[in-house]
Amino acid sequence: QAKSEGKGGVSIFTPAMHQAARERMHLVSELRRALAADQLEAFYQPIVDLRTDRVAGAEALVRWRHPERGLLAPDAFLDAAEEGGLMVELGRWMLGNVVGQVGRWTRELELPENFRVHVNISPSELRHGDLAAFATRLLQEQGVEGWRLTLEITESLLVTRGDVVDRNMEALRAIGIPLEIDDFGTGYSSISYLQSLPAENAKIDRSLTQGLLVEDQQRQFVSAILDLIHTAGMGAVAEGVEERGQADLLRSLRCEYAQGYYFSRPVPAETMREYLTGARQLAAAADDARWA
Ligand code: C2E
Ligand code: MG
Ligand code: MG
Ligand code: MG
Repeated sequence: QAKSEGKGGVSIFTPAMHQAARERMHLVSELRRALAADQLEAFYQPIVDLRTDRVAGAEALVRWRHPERGLLAPDAFLDAAEEGGLMVELGRWMLGNVVGQVGRWTRELELPENFRVHVNISPSELRHGDLAAFATRLLQEQGVEGWRLTLEITESLLVTRGDVVDRNMEALRAIGIPLEIDDFGTGYSSISYLQSLPAENAKIDRSLTQGLLVEDQQRQFVSAILDLIHTAGMGAVAEGVEERGQADLLRSLRCEYAQGYYFSRPVPAETMREYLTGARQLAAAADDARWA
């Protein structure tokens, strides 16, 4: 069994650990090539405004079209990206791709008012010196305004935030790119961070959303979290909405936005475009005329 013993600072590596390490190294080099060969792709998951029942935005989620293994979700390769020092490059690829896409959509479509695309940013990207400068250049090149994006950052980042992170967050704000706290309620956050953080929205983790219909206590808990978010002057997005009942409950609790399989799974850019033009309806429309 693969297990490391830290006793006396000595680690024992089993053959299984060697094997795992070799596989990771292989994955890292494959990923490095994938970045160069444009095998990554941005998928989009609609975010719905529960007050108007309209698409208010989308979250961009990275996928890897692996030549042999097919479409890979981030779980299969983000750790390797982090370990291999490829996270910054991957993040830049994603941001460049998304800003390009948003530029095309703004030029070619009548986007819903306030439509924006949420992009996940890893802590390493914010710790890297010039994310704001990079984003500024992209936005200028594509003629996209900063508010068309929202950068999702995780709570864990906030706890270890240093000068570079703070400077990046300030600079992003200065160019009009809103920030959002992702996976809110999953652990790291201390309530005091909420007050000092320049974020526009907080995204409630799906582990909280999904317990909503099961227990009354969970519902009160989510209600309290929504109050907290609102008290801090932020809007709330609930992720992982899979059922109509969850959407209805969240609306009654004054949660502004929701995303999840009930509305749509993450889809390729062409499918997202169909949602935006009205050529395709949200999955929820089959269930509830409100979403049609
Ligand atoms: P996240 O940012 O919390 O994204 C939400 C995840 O929940 C996505 O998984 C999405 O497909 C999934 N999801 C959405 N609705 C539902 C639902 O109703 N039920 C269930 N069970 N799941 C739902 P995905 O695409 O596999 O991404 C996983 C994580 O990988 C993301 O979690 C995010 O932390 C990270 N990630 C994805 N794309 C990027 C990226 O471009 N850059 C960075 N740094 N991280 C990324
Ligand atoms: Mg996210
Ligand atoms: Mg999330
Ligand atoms: Mg999550």
